[in-house]
Amino acid sequence: MLFSIVIPVYNERATLFEILSRVFAVDVGMDREIILVDDGSTDGTRDLYAQVETKWPNETFKIKLQSVNKGKGAALRAGFALTQGDVVIVQDADLEYDPGDYPRLLRPILDDRADVVYGSRFVGNDCHQVVEFWHMMGNRALTLMSNMLTNLTLTDMETCYKVLRREVVDTLDLSSQRFAVEPEITAKIARGKWRVYEVGINYAGRSYGEGKKITWLDGLAALWAIFRFRFLQ
Ligand code: UDP
Ligand code: MG
Repeated sequence: MLFSIVIPVYNERATLFEILSRVFAVDVGMDREIILVDDGSTDGTRDLYAQVETKWPNETFKIKLQSVNKGKGAALRAGFALTQGDVVIVQDADLEYDPGDYPRLLRPILDDRADVVYGSRFVGNDCHQVVEFWHMMGNRALTLMSNMLTNLTLTDMETCYKVLRREVVDTLDLSSQRFAVEPEITAKIARGKWRVYEVGINYAGRSYGEGKKITWLDGLAALWAIFRFRFLQ
């Protein structure tokens, strides 16, 4: 079995090596490939890819350089197209999510109970960061709206940790350029009637000062996407 880890990277010079180290520290009992999609970084991140390949010579990397910044959705579309794994996960390049959660995230798929697993920041895991109230409300509102239109009962639609079987990835046909990709994936999974599971995950949110890029405008775009992918496509 092959596990594909798709990492969208936009100006993440400070964390790229660290997140890769954390990914490689986890043994999920499968071969793995790392798909790095650089989404037009301008902070020097692009100089690091050659070092990445020499630092971890035994790992399989596929590196795609987008000519200009297009957004996380475009990066995922390019990344998914390069995956060859039986199971695919999205891994953000910052340090908010913990690759140590991979074995638990993969379990429902490997047991053939699920086709899709979402890692939820908001359901029981033994310890989690207390996050900003309004940020959480934004997440809750988008998840609620998405649930109402997809008839799912997710607790964290916007999570980065989405684990997808190959068959699911092949049906997605993504069109969102930016962060609206999260509701788009969710709507298409719901429409595909795939078996969806959720697993509580660790989360250590970063602030805008630390490089967080999503804003309330992305929240509005996500809201629009929830409706668009339910009713128009
Ligand atoms: N990202 C990207 N293109 C963009 C914005 C973000 O590829 O235009 C990447 C970013 O480097 C990170 C992931 O998408 O790996 C999520 O971005 P961020 O952490 O800023 O979003 P948030 O944590 O707010 O969801
Ligand atoms: Mg992040």
